[in-house]
Amino acid sequence: MKEAMVKCENVSFKYRAVEGEEEKYAVNGVSFEVEKGEFLVVLGHNGSGKSTIAKHMNALLIPSDGTVIVDGLDTKDQKNLWEIRSRAGMVFQNPDNQLVATIVEEDVAFGPENLGVEPEEIRKRVDESLKKVGMYEYRRHAPHLLSGGQKQRIAIAGILAMKPKCIIFDEPTAMLDPSGRREVLKNIKEINEMYGITIVLITHYMDEAAQADRVIVMDEGKVILEGKPREVFSNVKEMKEIGLDVPQVTELCYELKNSGINIDTNILNVDEMVDALCQLR
Ligand code: ADP
Ligand code: MG
Repeated sequence: MKEAMVKCENVSFKYRAVEGEEEKYAVNGVSFEVEKGEFLVVLGHNGSGKSTIAKHMNALLIPSDGTVIVDGLDTKDQKNLWEIRSRAGMVFQNPDNQLVATIVEEDVAFGPENLGVEPEEIRKRVDESLKKVGMYEYRRHAPHLLSGGQKQRIAIAGILAMKPKCIIFDEPTAMLDPSGRREVLKNIKEINEMYGITIVLITHYMDEAAQADRVIVMDEGKVILEGKPREVFSNVKEMKEIGLDVPQVTELCYELKNSGINIDTNILNVDEMVDALCQLR
């Protein structure tokens, strides 16, 4: 068993009740691990508890019940807070809410400055991080004039400059156009593959989920499916029942199988579909 980057043990969380409304669990008895170096995707429809569990992974929220351990540190222990936040960074949906400075490089420097990193080292980290997301040429630009995808890449550079071991992305492509979405996903994959940073990606795009090492599916505050993308997506009926899609080709195979054609349903992309269809003859 590989070492865990994040370990959630029987985690439950309740937001404080709003006047007149009943208190209910946003996350209810969730247990899973994120391995070091892994690219994990979390799926689930709106309100299933994805953002709530994500915020537990860098101690923005502390479980009402259960335990979250980040890189060996218990999030409940107040003295671990800074260490946890520097090891596990978060990128959110709206890039405009994450950019604080008027110049790109100042924005990227903000995180390491807060961690008390030496100025010379900050300079180095800012340049490196901007190069990693392909935004170095824009270092003197004003963030608000950039595209959504570019802004999100600046936000990612800002996290990279803190040298985290793990980055949690909460629907980072939801507000982007298709080209921005592709750019950002490419960055995320590179950060994982080239620099070995552990990735937790919350998304509702199945093509993004298909690229993960492992997928967990949440529904009503619980984890209901977990496995490799092709294992999870082969549960076409369960996925549809909770209002989620599967990749188009997976669904097509499922429908073919249902109509009596003996085709493999463990299919994730067009190339595999073509192979499976060719084998029918
Ligand atoms: P997801 O990210 O999967 O859409 P969330 O974790 O945001 O789900 O929400 C899970 C549940 O918690 C929902 O029922 C939502 O209404 C509730 N919730 C989320 N944020 C708050 C909050 N700040 N205060 C009260 N309830 C909240
Ligand atoms: Mg959410």
